[in-house]
Amino acid sequence: DVVRKIAAGEVIVRPANAVKELVENCLDAGATEITVTIKEGGLTLLQVKDNGSGIYKDDLPLVCERFATSKLRSIDDLSRMTTFGFRGEALASIAMVSTLNVTSKRRDAPCAYQISYKNGAMTGRIRPSAGGDGTTITVDGLFEASESRRSALKNHAEESARVLDVVAKYAVHRPDVAFVVMRDERGCDLRSIGSGEREDVLGVLYGDEVAKDPIELRLDDASLHFEMEGIMARPYSTHSAEAKDAKRKRHKQFVLFINSRPVSCVALKSSTEMTLGARGLATSYLMMALKIEPSRVDVNVHPTKDCVFFLQQDDVIERIQEYLDTVLTADLE
Ligand code: ADP
Ligand code: MG
Repeated sequence: DVVRKIAAGEVIVRPANAVKELVENCLDAGATEITVTIKEGGLTLLQVKDNGSGIYKDDLPLVCERFATSKLRSIDDLSRMTTFGFRGEALASIAMVSTLNVTSKRRDAPCAYQISYKNGAMTGRIRPSAGGDGTTITVDGLFEASESRRSALKNHAEESARVLDVVAKYAVHRPDVAFVVMRDERGCDLRSIGSGEREDVLGVLYGDEVAKDPIELRLDDASLHFEMEGIMARPYSTHSAEAKDAKRKRHKQFVLFINSRPVSCVALKSSTEMTLGARGLATSYLMMALKIEPSRVDVNVHPTKDCVFFLQQDDVIERIQEYLDTVLTADLE
């Protein structure tokens, strides 16, 4: 049991990790509306509700089992996996360190069913429940059994900000999905409407200035086995005095997804900044989503270490810089 708890602690170290995993499950289930509710940074309450496929009643007791995943049907799937990281561990890990309730209704089921866990053990049986189509996962008292973890997460404002940050990344990546974040009964902190337009999402999240006239990115490179798409806020000159002032105020964001998972790649980030910098430009927001053949991505990266590795990384990065350079040239004309 201790070993299991240690393993869980490695995957879920703060509320934002849990939110990332839960939101990802909603998207995997085909949800088009996802609502995240948090209290006290997610430590008192963390709830993620979706309108996705739902879970079969008979599968409910399995979802919080370790390595329980409905997403790997055979060993062969392992190599074709479009997502990476550890499979079937997320819900089990969260359930291990909280009181967790799953309420879910499949479209074809007569009603919703729910199941609860406390610190990894099922409490009671599956019960019929009220609830519309889709799944709601409610996490109460995250890390309540761990005094040290809770005291390390005392700053609720910071934990809330991290949760918002994770959801904002997904909202830009998936403009076709409506995301809502509610915090501490203060109403809505983030709302994207799912219009399908990234420009709309950027406007709602970061204001009109960032969203105005952005540059859409799209690059396919069959020889290097990747596709890239994304959006860049209109670059501004770093030379003018006005820009220097703006630069101090604006925080720059570089968001990277690989095969639909948010990750970081320092090399790609800095080379992108250099490409812009060489022209005396910077941008306040840049999101790139890469699709790379899964067999070329290192799937053994630890879930909390979000820095990824993939084959021919340097070549891919160089190709992206070349592309950005072309885009900037075309745009300045
Ligand atoms: P994984 O996503 O790697 O399969 P998880 O621990 O995140 O593992 O989830 C376990 C299983 O629970 C999933 O494979 C899926 O079948 C089910 N599940 C979890 N969340 C949802 C959801 N929001 N909608 C439908 N099914 C879900
Ligand atoms: Mg998952």
